[in-house]
Amino acid sequence: MRVFTGISELRTPFKRFENAALAVQEGRVAWVGREDALPEPYRSRSKYDLGGRGVVPGLVDSHTHLVWAGDRLEEYAQRARGASYAEILAAGGGIHATTRATRAANEDELLALARKRARSFLKTGVTTLEVKSGYGLEPEHELKMLRVVRRLTEAEPQRFAPTLLAHVVPSGWNRDSYVEMWVRELIPEVARTGLANALDVFVDREAFTLAEAERLWQAALEHGLDIKAHAEQLTHTGAARLVAELGGLSADHLERATPPDWAALAKHGTVGTLLPGAALLLRQPFPGARAMWDAGVTVAVASDHNPGSSPFYNLWLALQLAVALGRLTLEEALQAGTAHAARALARPQLGRLEPGSAADFVVVDSPHALEPLYRWGETPVHAVYVAGKPALAESPP
Ligand SMILES: [Zn+2]
Repeated sequence: MRVFTGISELRTPFKRFENAALAVQEGRVAWVGREDALPEPYRSRSKYDLGGRGVVPGLVDSHTHLVWAGDRLEEYAQRARGASYAEILAAGGGIHATTRATRAANEDELLALARKRARSFLKTGVTTLEVKSGYGLEPEHELKMLRVVRRLTEAEPQRFAPTLLAHVVPSGWNRDSYVEMWVRELIPEVARTGLANALDVFVDREAFTLAEAERLWQAALEHGLDIKAHAEQLTHTGAARLVAELGGLSADHLERATPPDWAALAKHGTVGTLLPGAALLLRQPFPGARAMWDAGVTVAVASDHNPGSSPFYNLWLALQLAVALGRLTLEEALQAGTAHAARALARPQLGRLEPGSAADFVVVDSPHALEPLYRWGETPVHAVYVAGKPALAESPP
């Protein structure tokens, strides 16, 4: 057992305690509250004094494409000069460039690249990352990406949630045969081997139609996988409503979502995940975070880390944008990047500091727990704990 004291402010994230203490047993939170109310079995234990700093739950990044190879800096420069994504795609760039490089890389190479990125997130307090496949497209390369996620779990202190992503139909395939291959072979194989917990489908122009997505989701559900969607990003397709009606975990992007879509998400308890990086870099309308929240949607905010449309290595930046442009409060932004994001992964024991939840937390290098939302471009993190253990090499104690 470890008892942490000297916490000037702790956010659970739903409650706030001043002069708090946190007791951890077997990787879980045993008790949290004001230090002067610490019950006897914990009071007599030796304490780890956090020196008057703030504590928040470890952040949960519920939408990333962390595994990829290649380099898209030149494309980023072209877009900044005014090239459209369609022009870049037509010239063989965009997702095609990442697919070529990811297919060419072996598992060890992809793992080394992904580990470095996971470390960047860890240093800023992200203790759980969802990671999608979707750059392999051919089944053997999709499986290779998911095996890399499995190895990330062994190699890094964070938690990883693997998701199989149906991204686009690769060249050389007939659309119907490709969807059939997923339904008959890839989805059952991923479910059987446990390489992913969920199936995500990118529903949009140039990606999958709503009818194709429904076929894929039904197959996933039959095999016991959760489902989610890249929905209403570039065009409105109805994917958010359908994935909600099918009991999906989350509908992500939602730049083009409408009030009836929000109502469907709220009604079915499907998380609405906002990805400010992609919205800004692709110059899409910023999703209606405030209105969605007020309509009763459980709103999460994620980095959408990917080499093309969201080269984010820090989830706090996405949360800051959700405050500045989406008009969330600081308290709501923290919930969106912790407990709400954990719901989008069907891991409700993560992203919160309550008795029984996982003892994943960030010691903020400030007396104010919400200071990382205030400082742009620098994240004040003193230490990061996963399951009650220090996760950064330099973390005290
Ligand atoms: Zn994405």
